[in-house]
Amino acid sequence: MLKINKSLKAKNLRSGRLPVAGIILHDTAGSGQHGDTLYLVNDPDGRGVSVDFTIERDGSIYQLNPDLEKFYTSHAGRATVFRIPGRKYLNRDVTRACIGIELCQKANMSLSPVWPDEQVKAAAELCVSLCRKFGLAKDRVTTHRGVITDGSRTDPRNFPFDTFWFHFNRAAGIPAIDTPGDGLNDTIIHDVKAGETLWKIARDYRTTIEDIKSRNDINEASNVIRPGQKLLIKK
Ligand SMILES: [Zn+2]
Repeated sequence: MLKINKSLKAKNLRSGRLPVAGIILHDTAGSGQHGDTLYLVNDPDGRGVSVDFTIERDGSIYQLNPDLEKFYTSHAGRATVFRIPGRKYLNRDVTRACIGIELCQKANMSLSPVWPDEQVKAAAELCVSLCRKFGLAKDRVTTHRGVITDGSRTDPRNFPFDTFWFHFNRAAGIPAIDTPGDGLNDTIIHDVKAGETLWKIARDYRTTIEDIKSRNDINEASNVIRPGQKLLIKK
């Protein structure tokens, strides 16, 4: 059962929410501790930023926006684009249409482990719950890095998406995620084998390296994959 702490309410809630169309994952690049949540509840520097949820290292989920259909928070409103079939959201409308989840993470990523499994699992389970609530397919879960247009954001940094999707599928009741084609909409999962390259995998599945990268949040400048990694591939 998903436990959500609703004891903290963000100071900066805005009216004018659009129908929820997506979920954007971030990392805080702060202390990685509870203080990051408190900062987003009540930013002391007047920037007006906040977020709908934070998730801390122990898996605690804080809902800072008490009414997700009424209010939105400013978490990805600058230099961003979010596309869904037939519609494109820009800048402020990205935050109006997308729920933001900040994963508490230290700026220099020096905490160990960098991403505790409790935190990754809580993120996955919260996303499943939100996808159900708002009728969203899993491809509506994206990242700040995935919506930024000027390259200025890369968060959530080094987030273990293979573990995230493992927990997501399990929470969503999608069995046997190692079996290609199991209930993953238009997506299958490929287990990377030793010696495989993105180029080979793209060729084998008749897709493109760019498409594989964007589905798996592989940095644009990087072609590095490792054996055992799970990649989401377009069917
Ligand atoms: Zn961000």
